Amino acid sequence: MRKIFIILMSLLPVSLSAETYVMLESNTVKEGGVIKVRINSNEPLKAAEVTFMGKTYQAFYRKYDVRESEYMCMAFIPVPLGTNGKKDLKTRWLLRNDDEAIDRQKVRVVGLKSRETQLSTGMVNDNSMVRLSNEGRIIYGFQNRITPARFTMPFIMPVKAVQTGGFGDKRTYDGGKAGWRHKGLDLAAPKGTKVHASNNGTVMTASTTKMYGIIVIIDHGAGIYTMYFHLNRVFVKKGMNVKKGDIIAEVGNTGISTGPHLHWQVNLHKVPVNPGDLLADF
Ligand SMILES: [Zn+2]
Repeated sequence: MRKIFIILMSLLPVSLSAETYVMLESNTVKEGGVIKVRINSNEPLKAAEVTFMGKTYQAFYRKYDVRESEYMCMAFIPVPLGTNGKKDLKTRWLLRNDDEAIDRQKVRVVGLKSRETQLSTGMVNDNSMVRLSNEGRIIYGFQNRITPARFTMPFIMPVKAVQTGGFGDKRTYDGGKAGWRHKGLDLAAPKGTKVHASNNGTVMTASTTKMYGIIVIIDHGAGIYTMYFHLNRVFVKKGMNVKKGDIIAEVGNTGISTGPHLHWQVNLHKVPVNPGDLLADF
């Protein structure tokens, strides 16, 4: 009888207190990449947040893992282009009884191998640069809200196309009149090719700009926005909810563009990040 009791005891959880652990997809990330943080706990957390490079990001509740009997929270953290070296990442969470706990890790940020390209548009001048910065501000203005996460991993490529421009490419325009790192992917496809929503979300704008042409911006929640530029036609309206894969527009050549292509960009908390980092499951 005593033996059975001891065996039964050993089958019970070692401790009934809270157990929480933090996992990173990787402790090495490329500049312009996304740090993916998972916070697993055997009890629901009251709150969780991650601090990186002086900014704090709220974690969002993902799911209850039945097999592991764990609650899973996640946080996606942007690493701006141009970052390098070892950085601190601090995760802080609050348990049911208001006890606070902290996990500290080091993240190594490495450079991105980027192409250098020169583009001739014949349209870069003082006037267009002013317009570009004005329109850039408008585009960021659509990304002020942090809404609940509605996406499911992974994100999908919005078009079947040839990639002609990579994320982070160093570009100079019109003989060095302007230059910057490319903030998205350029996907060349014939005019009229269907563009699909990369994930579930809400259309924040479907409008026309001078520089980016006809644009669509979708809010996927948790600070993730996808942007679709230089479109031909648009099939969605502001405020519409879309599902991953829905047809939202057609590839075009509107705005400052050197041929029919989709400029596809992902902003995470207003920081342009490598879309490739969201195309795998996590
Ligand atoms: Zn582009």
